[in-house]
Amino acid sequence: MNQYKEQLKTATRSINPTVESRYSTFIPEYFLNHIKSKNSPKSLTNQFYPRLEELNEGGMLDPIGDISKSKSNKIIHRYKNRVLLTPTTVCPIHCRYCFRKNELNENNEIYKGELDKAFEYIADHPEVNEVILTGGDPLILNNKQLENILNELSKIKHVHFVRLHTRTPVILPQRIDDNFINLILKYEQKFLQINTVIHINHLDEMTPLFEEKMKLMIKNGLSILSQSVLLKDVNDTKEELLNLFQALIRLKIRPYYLHHPDKAKGAMHFYLSLDKGRKIYHSLRDELPGWAIPHYIVDIPGGLGKTIAYNPESFHFTGTLIDRKGEQIPYESIL
Ligand SMILES: *Cc1c(COP(=O)(O)O)cnc(C)c1O
Ligand code: SF4
Repeated sequence: MNQYKEQLKTATRSINPTVESRYSTFIPEYFLNHIKSKNSPKSLTNQFYPRLEELNEGGMLDPIGDISKSKSNKIIHRYKNRVLLTPTTVCPIHCRYCFRKNELNENNEIYKGELDKAFEYIADHPEVNEVILTGGDPLILNNKQLENILNELSKIKHVHFVRLHTRTPVILPQRIDDNFINLILKYEQKFLQINTVIHINHLDEMTPLFEEKMKLMIKNGLSILSQSVLLKDVNDTKEELLNLFQALIRLKIRPYYLHHPDKAKGAMHFYLSLDKGRKIYHSLRDELPGWAIPHYIVDIPGGLGKTIAYNPESFHFTGTLIDRKGEQIPYESIL
């Protein structure tokens, strides 16, 4: 039995039954011990421990329009040349701010042999050159399952890039074993590149084992990017974001996206205004080079897609976003 599989079996599921009647708790022992060893800072407990605010009214069930967009084939095709593929809805931990929290809870599953339609869809769309494995979390799959997917994708000649969107290296770094690294190295020969995009929001999430595994991947020539969600009372200060991004670039991980929080039902207590967010973001440039500053983006509700959230302080901010079709969206007044 793989060590990370054991961790999934013994994870803590009960901290606050009132909240858990609506949203489940799931924290593997390894990471729970880490939280406690740091004296349970708000940066971690707010992200992973259930809180009564989750039962508050407000927020959307499907804030970025993914459910309505997703077809029965586990594919979300919003941008012309890249698709999301969700081979599982299982996650290594349940993040309280997650925009998928209203769907993930229902039926956690790994799809077995149900991905044929997804591969067919991609094969039928020659404009798709990148497949982004997400979920849930694709690194919940074992190496054999992951290899099956990479193998099928490698048979589709127009797929040149693969991305793994994952929180697992942070929560259960033991998942990054030699077989995983060899698997990625093997399949990188068949694509132009496989990028691993880790989801991490705070320096406090980093453990020595995480750092060790990231160094191992980098030493083997793998590419790692990061994405973070800006969250109220977790990382909504200049210092916390600077510390995170500086620690990431020291590990040679390139910060890729900083997401403005989604207006998700059950997660509105993590929400902060775009105006506040862009001021924090603006303050980063003083101490970070341009290449270490992630894109600050917001996903426009209704499946309209990502848009850059930042406009510099030197421009007047109206609170209105412009979507990809050039339409003006009064973002702050939605809801
Ligand atoms: C975020 C996202 C992508 C990936 O976008 P990039 O800008 O290439 O990182 C692709 N499809 C969907 C539906 C997304 O939400
Ligand atoms: S790992 Fe990702 S998909 Fe899973 S609960 Fe956390 S944010 Fe949501």
